[in-house]
Amino acid sequence: MTLARLVGVIVGAIAPALAAAQSAPTDSAAALGHLRTLIRMNTVNPPGNEIAVATYLDSVLTAAGIKTWRFTPAPGRAALVARITGTGARKPIVLMGHMDVVGVHREQWVADPFAAELRGDTLYGRGAIDDKGMLVANLMAMLRLKREGDAGAVLQRDVIFIANSDEEAGGEFGMGWLIANHPDLIRGEFALNEGGRTRIIAGGRRYVALQGAEKVSHVVTVTARGPDGHASIPLDGNAIVRLGRALAAIGTHREPTVLTPTTTRFFGDLASSWPDRRVGRAMADVSSGVADRIAAGATVLRATPVFDAVLRNGISPTIVGGGIRSNVIPASATATLNVRTLPGESVDAVVERLRRTVNDSLVRIEVTSRGEESPAMPASGALFDAVRSAARAIDPAIIVVPYLSTGATDSARLRVWGMQAYGLLPFPLAQDDEDRMHGNNERLPLASLTFGVRFIYEIAARAAR
Ligand SMILES: [Zn+2]
Repeated sequence: MTLARLVGVIVGAIAPALAAAQSAPTDSAAALGHLRTLIRMNTVNPPGNEIAVATYLDSVLTAAGIKTWRFTPAPGRAALVARITGTGARKPIVLMGHMDVVGVHREQWVADPFAAELRGDTLYGRGAIDDKGMLVANLMAMLRLKREGDAGAVLQRDVIFIANSDEEAGGEFGMGWLIANHPDLIRGEFALNEGGRTRIIAGGRRYVALQGAEKVSHVVTVTARGPDGHASIPLDGNAIVRLGRALAAIGTHREPTVLTPTTTRFFGDLASSWPDRRVGRAMADVSSGVADRIAAGATVLRATPVFDAVLRNGISPTIVGGGIRSNVIPASATATLNVRTLPGESVDAVVERLRRTVNDSLVRIEVTSRGEESPAMPASGALFDAVRSAARAIDPAIIVVPYLSTGATDSARLRVWGMQAYGLLPFPLAQDDEDRMHGNNERLPLASLTFGVRFIYEIAARAAR
């Protein structure tokens, strides 16, 4: 073969791949640019200061000819709504994301969390996966739907874009404010929010966990009492030691296994295709409805904390406090527990079980903050179908399963309000990357950004047309 012919063969082989990829990289490059800009705007909540992000998104949407509404729920805070109108034959779909992020332990990051640094093919930064990445994917979907609309494509539904504040601190200045003040502007048939997962599992296979229910977060305080005095004379019943004993007991307590309809389908739908046969059998067991099999399956799934956490109420000690000086024995010591109950489970019943486990009259355990429960969404319907069809258009092997999340989201407010809300994280992530959400070195592989930008567009287009 001559050199010229060899070159011709090589070019011939790669040209179709380049052509197929052409439209995606343009959007990907733009999405990366927007995401880096958003990460560089520090919106750690408190105080939030989301207004800079809202102003930026507003300018991009407005420049594309999309109508927007910008509000100021409080100084420095913002809510941005944008809308592309369809024929109105069906009710709107809402694409939503929050602009605030959680704080960082800077010294534990390998990169500046607010520099949006690229290391190889991975973007580092607070908010990359929670939730500025999804905000950008939603933005890109809006821009593409607008372009296609201008070229003649017709939408049956309006598509509403919401960028809200304050999700990480309760939502009083975010979705709570929008629902209270502009309900007509944001009401649709259903919303697509954060809260689900696109997971990469063994062998590079992927599944989409579409969140339709979530655990409820409560705060429980444990207070131990004891005699106070000078530390030079050790005393029996020291409150700190008593608290330590109580926490040790709480640490060994496990709540009973409870299968909700969502979790039963989650494991049942994943079981047959799970790459690890032993885990696949355990999934089939916990979804069998047979008590012995559920117990056996739950024991196997315990090795995977994200699976164990959806099978029972969760109890995590998060803060300890007690004492003021190194030479004074304090009269009390406290610990804070974050308790997450499954839908339909009572936090008071959890506390009662903890009291029996601790079994100490000088240790008080009480609920100091209660979460509100929201209804579970059906694992069927137009949005569910759109997500399934969109996922398969990108990867025919992908499975979409209903999912109960351990984390709380703004979707709970919408569900209580009477709107359907589903949670997604459109970026395929391995467990190690998923675990960085709210943690150190949050990052997003660029291939996952590309996937996510296309995924949200495909869902919105299918649901709205
Ligand atoms: Zn979030």
